[in-house]
Amino acid sequence: SRARLFDEKNDTRTTFSDVAGLEGAKEEIQEIVEFLKNPEKYTSIGGKIPKGALLVGPPGTGKTLLAKAVAGEAQVPFFSLSGSDFVEMFVGVGASRVRDLFKQAKEKSPAIIFIDEIDAIGRARGKSNFSGSNDERENTLNQLLTEMDGFGTNTNVIVLAATNRAEILDKALMRAGRFDRQIYVDLPDVNERKQIFAVHLKKIKKVENLDLDFLAKQTPGFSGADIANVCNEAALTAARKGKTEVDKQDFLDAVDRIVGGLEKKNKIIT
Ligand code: ATP
Repeated sequence: SRARLFDEKNDTRTTFSDVAGLEGAKEEIQEIVEFLKNPEKYTSIGGKIPKGALLVGPPGTGKTLLAKAVAGEAQVPFFSLSGSDFVEMFVGVGASRVRDLFKQAKEKSPAIIFIDEIDAIGRARGKSNFSGSNDERENTLNQLLTEMDGFGTNTNVIVLAATNRAEILDKALMRAGRFDRQIYVDLPDVNERKQIFAVHLKKIKKVENLDLDFLAKQTPGFSGADIANVCNEAALTAARKGKTEVDKQDFLDAVDRIVGGLEKKNKIIT
């Protein structure tokens, strides 16, 4: 899939209603929707529209979803790339991909550029032992900084980037006029988990008396992605058993399976 390093999706169907919980993050990022929809309101009075914001939080908490929702709410194209795509890239390619991406976004502006896993290219410079690939990574990072500095405030391209590890990022990225805003996207609390269940259960045929409060209580520490996974696993289990509706036991089995998977993952890490 390396050929599809970035893609423009004019699919602007994701909206804030697809993002459950995260009220604080949604409120903060709403401002970016306003900038994209109505830039003159801010620039005519002499304001400078921010060029970027960093979405910071654990894996699977909805950072990508939120970025897509910004594009959907503002009805602008969404260009994306993932930092990890650059890891094995040949010399010179990373920088030219970044240049290309910004060129395309500017042509279609107003637009959103989303960079997932920005830490893969945005780690603090000069801190790796792998000298070859590190040079390439630095070139890519430098190109990103150049692009962000290069476009004027009236370009109306806003760059959103996601990371689980803001602390390892090169400080140059956070300088004024680059990713100078950070938006925190945390793991959901019990109430938010209930809302995430509700979003993901919309398309699933389930028993009428299914207790979402109960499911939310059974899933402490789960991310939104984990909950989406539970809902899908439960549906598959029920179907496998020949049921026409997903019931409480199917959900409990799915939760157990996913807890098992999470425990295995943690064992490998520690
Ligand atoms: P990563 O850091 O691993 O890239 P992420 O924070 O970007 O993760 P997403 O890719 O946005 O997470 O989330 C994965 C999927 O999990 C979403 O497509 C969605 O189905 C579900 N999900 C995560 N968070 C939420 C949420 N707050 N509301 C509804 N669904 C969610």
